[in-house]
Amino acid sequence: MRRYRPRAEELPGPLAPLVDLITDLRWTWSHAGDRLWEAMDPDSWAVTENPYVILQNLPRGRLESLAGDARFLEHLRSLTEARDAYCARPGWFSAQHGDAGLRGVAYFSMEFGLGEALPLYAGGLGVLAGDHLKSASDLGLPLVGVGLLYQEGYFHQVLDADGRQLELYPYNDTTTLPVEPVEGPDGAWLWVPIHLPGRTLRLRAWKAQVGRIPLYLLDSNDPLNMPADRGITGKLYGGGAEQRLLQEIALGIGGWRLIEALALEVDVCHLNEGHAAFVTLERARAFMERHGVDLREALWATRPGNVFTTHTPVAAAFDTYDYELLDKYARHYAERLGVPAGELAALGRIDGDDDGELFNMAWLAARTCGSINGVSRLHGEVSRAIFQPLYPDWPRSEVPVGHVTNGVHVPSWDSAWADALWTEACGKDRWLGHHEPLEEPMAAVDDATLWDLRGRQRADLVHRARRRLHRQLAQRGEADVAVAGEVLDPNILTIGFARRFTDYKRPNLLLRDPERLARLLNDPDRPVQVIVAGKAHPEDALGKRYVRAWARFAQQPEVRRRVVFMEDYDIALAQELVQGVDVWINTPRRPWEASGTSGMKVLVNGGLNLSSLDGWWAEAWEPEVGWALGDNRPDVGEEEDARDAEALYRLLEAEVVTAFYDRDEAGIPRAWVARMRASMARLAPRFSTNRMVQEYVERHYLPAAREVGRRRADNGAAGRNLQAWSAALRHDWDEIHWGQRRVTHVEDGWEMEIQVYLGDLPPDAVAVEIYADPDPERGAPAVRQALERDGEIPGASNGYRYRGRILTDRPAEHFTPRVVPWHPDARVPAELGLVLWWRE
Ligand SMILES: *Cc1c(COP(=O)(O)O)cnc(C)c1O
Repeated sequence: MRRYRPRAEELPGPLAPLVDLITDLRWTWSHAGDRLWEAMDPDSWAVTENPYVILQNLPRGRLESLAGDARFLEHLRSLTEARDAYCARPGWFSAQHGDAGLRGVAYFSMEFGLGEALPLYAGGLGVLAGDHLKSASDLGLPLVGVGLLYQEGYFHQVLDADGRQLELYPYNDTTTLPVEPVEGPDGAWLWVPIHLPGRTLRLRAWKAQVGRIPLYLLDSNDPLNMPADRGITGKLYGGGAEQRLLQEIALGIGGWRLIEALALEVDVCHLNEGHAAFVTLERARAFMERHGVDLREALWATRPGNVFTTHTPVAAAFDTYDYELLDKYARHYAERLGVPAGELAALGRIDGDDDGELFNMAWLAARTCGSINGVSRLHGEVSRAIFQPLYPDWPRSEVPVGHVTNGVHVPSWDSAWADALWTEACGKDRWLGHHEPLEEPMAAVDDATLWDLRGRQRADLVHRARRRLHRQLAQRGEADVAVAGEVLDPNILTIGFARRFTDYKRPNLLLRDPERLARLLNDPDRPVQVIVAGKAHPEDALGKRYVRAWARFAQQPEVRRRVVFMEDYDIALAQELVQGVDVWINTPRRPWEASGTSGMKVLVNGGLNLSSLDGWWAEAWEPEVGWALGDNRPDVGEEEDARDAEALYRLLEAEVVTAFYDRDEAGIPRAWVARMRASMARLAPRFSTNRMVQEYVERHYLPAAREVGRRRADNGAAGRNLQAWSAALRHDWDEIHWGQRRVTHVEDGWEMEIQVYLGDLPPDAVAVEIYADPDPERGAPAVRQALERDGEIPGASNGYRYRGRILTDRPAEHFTPRVVPWHPDARVPAELGLVLWWRE
């Protein structure tokens, strides 16, 4: 009998190369092998589209016959060569930055959405993490993923005949997942320990291969663990606060221990959301042990090597823990860090001394990472407001939170037809390293070709949706499953709408006036059809009501051919939808959608977006590429919902439908096709993880690696130095006070002279600056200008005159002097947020 995990030596010789091919999840996006997998077992392929499972289940006889099939072997050889070439290609990273000294990045995430073969994700955060790894592979980055292997992934959704959502939790059987145990140096299964009260938790290490990128996963389901502990990694986002805390300890602390156990050289830890923030502490702890420094010095030495990406526009969504729960697990960890438990707890609070304040993973991440970024321009702004309390007295615009707008891994979302069209127009390597607009090559694609692409993809979607609906109805035990063959029409305007059914996304907006929607759908000359999908969180009663409202609407006899609700929104369904729809609708309440990525997935396939001006769409939209809902103001409540629903119907009726059906004598809607071309050429390259990962490399990973390299040199000398500097500043900051100020009008601005007494602080530990807020009326940006020290104040001890000239046409009262910490190696206010503003 063969073992579960296919092994090369157990296959007939000529089939041995299959093992490397099917264990590399590259097959989730490179479809070159699809026909080969299908040939192995057409029935299994139709159900799973998963070559790993297909190979596991092939009987001996079938393997023998494939081993003698010359055509099969030839196809296998060409796939193996293509994979070898892919892995050997130097890639964008080594060409552009190979000598920049970045040895390794470890990317930490609670979820990874790579495909249905490895269901370790719930939604957008996981899909983004999966796309990040895939692009890192394409670009040749030295990166590893670190996550958890859950025994149950997120729930599967089915609807009963009345439209009620039921949740099913299939078991993630590791014997059928494309993962393998990691072997330790002693030949045994590698595990890492976590010390919990009264016991040691063993986390077993697994590895999945994503092209060139290894994804390491930890799980606690080890028979050597206490029974209760085996369930720690039982369920993604399952259980209560305690289980969540233990999962985050496993991911952060366990994750760093795994990196050490594997002896990986990691310069940069990237935290995909604050869930993984404990990694920064464990990284510092390891540094302490190695270099004989204390926790604060170790944090100064390692902090710039940590990059924190925040994903939510509401502070309430951050994970928080109350003091008692935290203390239960943090007490002896604090001991290992050599600090009182209170000091550890303070890292996760705004007011460190307030034991009533919850411990917030995002605050911990902000305090222990060198950079923080949101995931769209608008979300960067919103996040500066959220993180403001950590930098009290600093202007909003200087809160150190930037943004890197999300993207999608284009090869994972394009259809085979779209792939062929782009390859013809722009070449094979268009998503590798370049992200400039592709207007010139796309201009050369004629209208008929683009319109034909839409038609093929739409027809394919209609076909697949009918098949899915058939399965849905049959499973539910409906008497009449034949109706599935009558829904939808490959020639009418097809709108897609799929998302988490949660209040802020307003999944019911289009359904506010069901009669008006029905009229739109059933227009005899210009009909419309809608495909809807989405899960509601098991505890979200309102979200479930929205699901049911759509499901029941779709059952109405007068619209049932025009509306279908597809159960169980997942990556596979998302792929079908984004390839086939003409218009993708997204209606979040602004600014609640941090970025949103589903709309980006239609770009490559020539789908158009109609969305609230929120998240990525707020920076992508222009009239030539799609439609915008609402305006730039926040959406607060009922009034805005009513207004936006009206605007949505009006846009659809007056613009979208009209443009789609306005055909010339050749049958082509020219204005529509022009929009498709603009959207594809301008937006598809920009809103890709190909662009996003390059931005992370250039704006975050490379500077982080450089800086952490400087700080850890000489056993962390710079870290010790910075700790001494910051301790002195904190200790003596209150002694700083102002003397006289003189402001003189000069030809093109102001001459400022200010006296400052520094107490015991050396003058080169601080800077004296002039600051002005941005002035929107004049269109003037914020001003931050250092003054020069210009001698001592006569007769004073450690008092100095500072002087400078500001070139401006703004009035003098716009400019306020301030004292801030200064050190050539420190980031202010990111790493030290002291500031003293001028007072008379
Ligand atoms: C892309 C994707 C998401 C994220 O979409 P948003 O627009 O960010 O809501 C969620 N779930 C699945 C299955 C996806 O493919």
